[in-house]
Amino acid sequence: MRRTRWKAFPLILAALFMASLPAAAVSCAQQAEPATELGVVVTVLPQAEFVESIGGERVDVTVMVPPGASPHTYEPTPGQMEKLARARMYAEVGSGVEFELSWMDKLSAANKDMLVVDCSQGIQLQETAAEHEDEEHEHGAMDPHIWMSPRNARVMVQNIALGLIAVDPDNRDYYEQNRDAYLQELIQLDQDITEGLSGVENRVFMVYHPSFGYFARDYDLTMLPIEDEGKEPTPAGLAHLIEQAREFDVKVVFASPQFNPNGAKVIADAIDGRVVLIDPLARDYVTNLRILLGELVQAME
Ligand SMILES: [Zn+2]
Repeated sequence: MRRTRWKAFPLILAALFMASLPAAAVSCAQQAEPATELGVVVTVLPQAEFVESIGGERVDVTVMVPPGASPHTYEPTPGQMEKLARARMYAEVGSGVEFELSWMDKLSAANKDMLVVDCSQGIQLQETAAEHEDEEHEHGAMDPHIWMSPRNARVMVQNIALGLIAVDPDNRDYYEQNRDAYLQELIQLDQDITEGLSGVENRVFMVYHPSFGYFARDYDLTMLPIEDEGKEPTPAGLAHLIEQAREFDVKVVFASPQFNPNGAKVIADAIDGRVVLIDPLARDYVTNLRILLGELVQAME
């Protein structure tokens, strides 16, 4: 085994060297022609705003999980695979999004020249928040929804910028300027959320699908998720949640368009509250988080 591997090693090196030759020749030839857009693929819609804010008119972004679809279950279409085959870079969320766990190996195998950037690099992951009455329940699943905190978004944006500079170093200055302007927007958003929530005393909110775990962590809120490990609550679970909602004086139950809000509706009715739809996957990231802030302040006052 070992000997074979050592024998193969120089061959692999030679193959890699040969493979790099035509690529270099192509990029030289391209310099003479007008600049073409850089194909960049992302998994979820908020990442599209991140990439476009940095890449401007230089990038052509393809989003894998389309509006209304769930990154927990989606499968790519042939059209998306064609885009992927021509892409220069893939920005994966990197935090264990189910779509990426099922598909990332196949996607990178379908385009070996594509740079895969892990947006979660440098972000402290946390466990998925869930109510467990069963003490024996196995823990350890990490919460994939990192983009929902603007502080994490800043790290994701920095990782994306590094990737764009790596595949297109000639435009480094352009990417860096755009990155810094967008980071400034995210810093302002972060400050506005901190300030907006500073007067809120009852810092508990209820949400159908637990997408706001990192948001809750960063702004000192408590998220009560209705869904447990991707499943609708049982009748006993629902009764317990209604009890909790009363105990914490919850007035609003958040739900998202990707999930059937029936469970949210049952609880809201039982506590004389209302259901508010918030999309954790909106493409207009900064605008959407400002809407979330407004709803939270209203719901928790
Ligand atoms: Zn989710």
